Parts: sequence; structure tokens; C-alpha cells
Amino acid sequence: MASKDIESTIIVGSGPAGYTAALYTARANLRPLVIEGFAWGGLLQQTTHVENYPGFPDGIMGPELMPLFREQAQRFGARLITDQAERVELASEAGGVHSVWAAGEQHRARTVILAMGAEHKKLGIPGEEELGGRGVSYCATCDAAFFRDRPTMVVGGGDSAMEEAIFLSKFASGVVLVHRRDEFRASKIMLERAREQQNIEFLTPFTVKELRAGEGGALTAATLVDQRSGEERELQIGGAFVAIGHQPQSQLVAGQVELDDNGYVVVRGHSTATNRPGVFAAGDLVDHTYRQAITAAGSGCQAALDAEWYLRDTPEVPIPAGMHLGDPAEAQWAPAADPA
Ligand code: NAP
Repeated sequence: MASKDIESTIIVGSGPAGYTAALYTARANLRPLVIEGFAWGGLLQQTTHVENYPGFPDGIMGPELMPLFREQAQRFGARLITDQAERVELASEAGGVHSVWAAGEQHRARTVILAMGAEHKKLGIPGEEELGGRGVSYCATCDAAFFRDRPTMVVGGGDSAMEEAIFLSKFASGVVLVHRRDEFRASKIMLERAREQQNIEFLTPFTVKELRAGEGGALTAATLVDQRSGEERELQIGGAFVAIGHQPQSQLVAGQVELDDNGYVVVRGHSTATNRPGVFAAGDLVDHTYRQAITAAGSGCQAALDAEWYLRDTPEVPIPAGMHLGDPAEAQWAPAADPA
């Protein structure tokens, strides 16, 4: 089934970038349609305390913060579809109409904002999935405090692994950093900082074969494999932090939008414009450097403004017969009623 309306903008994704783009485009009377997915809210929904999002001096739980983002976007007229985007067909000419399929329907729009985010890469070993939240974590900044005075392990050899290990070492009794090679991808300075910590021990070249639970159902041990000899070794741990990189969720647009070698969407200069006219990208889908909620929200704002300016400046390709533009009079938001 296809909707007859052509939207001004469709936003795919619902982390800080997606909802901020929704808030700004809604306030610009663009009546954004947000394809937010089933598990809306992005990676922050999987975290505990967020203490570095400005405006919350006492911190806030991730699963409390994201409904606030959502509510604020809805207040100004953002419409939400709580379903996955299944497929996209992006126009290649300026002013063209893009299509996004979700909830069994084809949705059309003049602009699309991609904000599908990134996922933590998984080891894909037995015990990892089952022990998520019961000893296995992907974010020391979020969860380190739960492992006070306990033995822990960090897996990975990049800057993220060093950062996780250093942060964790302030809480845990000890941190064993397990990496599959003797060489590290991490920058020299981060590696040195980690090596300076008395309670971080490096174990290379080792891989992790399995994570196991004790009687209480929480993580108690890991089986490691020595990559030189093939011998196995048991490590008693209360926490395992996996820091082996991130995977941008760009599968939906692969082949249509330019991606870099790691699958991140490429944007032009300081803008959020992709190589497709009228298609913008924001948040962790684009950013492998900063990856913070606040930077994602900032780029969501930029994408909304870029989309607004594009709509203002780009002549429309004539709309197909039988289609009509969404009625701006239906917009929920009137500037006079806005207290901001
Ligand atoms: P990364 O640089 O890609 O490093 C990932 C690490 O995980 C590598 O050591 C890799 O091993 C290992 N790995 C990948 N898959 C694995 C698997 N299946 N099993 C075991 N190990 C696996 O990722 P990152 O550390 O997240 O960093 C990403 C980017 O963010 C980098 O540009 C980094 O500089 C930046 N960053 C910067 C900071 C900072 O400056 N404060 C902090 C965090 C991140 P191999 O080396 O063997 O491939």
C-alpha cells in the first residue's frame, strides 16, 4: 500500500539525532514522519546513568531521557511509526521524491534524514548474549560503578578498549585487558595511559572463547585461548566489557548512499548532506569519532536545518498524478503558542 501524501521529511531512526531532527523539523512546520523502530530510543535505552548530558545536574537514566526526547518532538507535531524501515528508494535528482517502506506501507518524502545510529560490535561467542546486563557490558562509562572492587576484563585493542580499561580501573579491583594480537590499534598515548595503571594487566595474544555464569546466573568466568599455543585458560571475572568497535546501522541505504570503508555514511564538509540530493545523515551513523548523545543531538539539529533549507531552495520535480502534498494546515504547531 502507498500513502498518497508526499511528506516534507521522513526521519529514519530514534536516538538523540533522530528525535532532535524531529523536534526541529516539527517546529519548522514540516510535520516530520519518524520511522522510530520497535526498540525506539537508540543505544541510550541500553545504558543506566547518563551524567554528561547537559541540563541534568543529577544525571538521568538513559531509559528516562529518551522518552523525554520523544515527547518533546511529539509535542510539536512529529508523527511516529513504531516499526522498522524495511526498504528505501532514494531519488537521484534534486527535488525528487524519496520512498521509505515501513509498517507495510510506502511513504514518500522530499527529504529524508538518516539517523539509524550504530550498534556495539559483538564477539558472537557463547554466553555473551545471555549474560548481557548480568556481567557483560559494552559501556564502562555507564556500568563501571556496578563492578566496584571486583575482577573484570576488557576485550579489544583500540582506543575504546584503553578508555574503557582506564575508566574501569578506578572502580574494579583489577582489569585484565585481553587482545587478540600483540600489536595495538590504540594510539600511543592511550596505550601508555593504560599501561601506567597499576591494576590493569595486559594479556595478548588471546581470544575469548566463552563467557560463563555461576550459580546465581551472573558472569563468573571466561575461557580464553592463547593464539600462539592454542592452550585454553580460565579467568575468574565478575564483569566483561567488550570494546571491539562499533557497527554503523547503514545496511538500509548501502548501495544508494556513499559509505566509507567501515560502513559510516559520508557527509559533505561541515553539512549533513549525503551524495543524494535531499538526503541527510546525522548521529552515530556518520560519526565514529565523538559518539556522544550531545554530539548526536547537535548533528540531528543540523540535519533538520539542512533539510529545511533544501526544501526552501530546491525547485520541486512535478509530483506524480494522483499524489498530493501533505496539508501544512494540519500542522500541530503554531508559533504564537510556543513558549520558547
Ligand atoms: P577500533 O579502533 O576499530 O578497534 C577495535 C579493536 O577491537 C581492535 O583492536 C580489533 O582488533 C579488536 N576487535 C575487533 N573485532 C574483534 C573481535 N571479533 N574479537 C576480538 N577483537 C576484535 O575501534 P575503537 O577502539 O572503538 O575506536 C574507533 C575510533 O574511535 C578510532 O578512530 C579511535 O581512535 C576513536 N576513539 C578515540 C578515543 C579517544 O581518543 N579518546 C576513544 C575511543 C575511540 P585488531 O586490532 O586485531 O583488528
